[in-house]
Amino acid sequence: MNDTTPKTDSDRCPKRGLATRLIHGGEPQPRTEGAVAAPIFQSSTFEYGGDEGYHDLKYIRLNNTPTHRVLHDKLARAEGAEAGLATASGMAAITAALLTVLEAGDHLIAQNTLYGGTHDFLTQDLPRFGIEVSFIDGDAPDSWERQVRETTKAIYVETLSNPLLDMPDLEASVAFARRHGLVSMIDNTFASPVAYQPCPAGFDLSLHSATKYLNGHSDIVAGAVIGSRSRVEAVRRTLNHLGGSLDPHAVYLLYRGMKTLELRYHRQSSNALRLARFLDTHPAVTQVNYPGLESHPRHERAKALLSAYGGMLSFELEGGTDAAERTLSRLELPIVAPSLGGVESLATRPATSSHAGMTAEDRAAAGISDGLIRVSVGIETEADLLADFEQALA
Ligand code: PLP
Repeated sequence: MNDTTPKTDSDRCPKRGLATRLIHGGEPQPRTEGAVAAPIFQSSTFEYGGDEGYHDLKYIRLNNTPTHRVLHDKLARAEGAEAGLATASGMAAITAALLTVLEAGDHLIAQNTLYGGTHDFLTQDLPRFGIEVSFIDGDAPDSWERQVRETTKAIYVETLSNPLLDMPDLEASVAFARRHGLVSMIDNTFASPVAYQPCPAGFDLSLHSATKYLNGHSDIVAGAVIGSRSRVEAVRRTLNHLGGSLDPHAVYLLYRGMKTLELRYHRQSSNALRLARFLDTHPAVTQVNYPGLESHPRHERAKALLSAYGGMLSFELEGGTDAAERTLSRLELPIVAPSLGGVESLATRPATSSHAGMTAEDRAAAGISDGLIRVSVGIETEADLLADFEQALA
């Protein structure tokens, strides 16, 4: 299996802060030729070293090259878990994890406001493998009991939802999973290890689109699976068969990006809070969704469970879709583009991007108006961002 055993006690650095672990955790000991940045091993295959099993042969698709192992250790340290695994995309992490935990005849309980790609996989692909799914309101744990069947195997939630930044009852999710012997799975992409640490909180598997905050520079697509050694190793074996491994160059970029995650995320969070407060008092704005605002319905939960409120917010304008389009066209700093979590601010209308696959009626039922603007707040100078939104809304 991929070697997630720390080489030294200090390498594991369990008591050290997250910023320290992101920088020093998982680094090779001793350093390869003294290199401060772990090198990229650009080799698809490696000399046979007497490995006994297929999954131990060193080969990029088997996710166990020296470059992969450094990143895997760093991912594990980032969330205080035993093991980590990098994947070719966030969807590769999510699908490989679900296909490892579930088998034909099983039933999954999932939150009803999931990322569109995940929702489509649950509703369009899992049934083809004989797996059934029931959706729950993440804020109504009392109603979850009714959904439990003899075949229920797992519960799946997201720390913060897209684009309304809803937050399910995470503590109830862990307790519910334990009570019913379910595997608890969480997509921690929006929160990142900075705002929330799923494994110490009791979740079995934490999943990420590492394309977003973990990498942070909008230049790769990648994913991550984090959890106990045995669970992550089981997912690695599925991934080895599915072929969703991450290329060593992308592994390196993710490894490099992670070192600055803590700095970036806190800056994105403070910029986002200031922007949310500014928008909240602007006469043209009718609604702002940001968990750091006292008015957000999940503010108290976010305050209790998150170490930062994150860089994602969404808002609506008096003039609806036309006003939203006008504002987007006037913004000079945020780039009008989907995706999120990079150093640069991005803005998009979910109705034309992340949620374009839904009908307008379904979007409305989910509380997503066609005029809603979602912003992934970057690390630009705060005053410049505020001034840009001010002129765009004028
Ligand atoms: N999970 C969340 C919360 C996302 O926002 C996304 C992508 O936007 C994904 C998973 C899928 O990630 P990827 O595009 O890296 O496959």
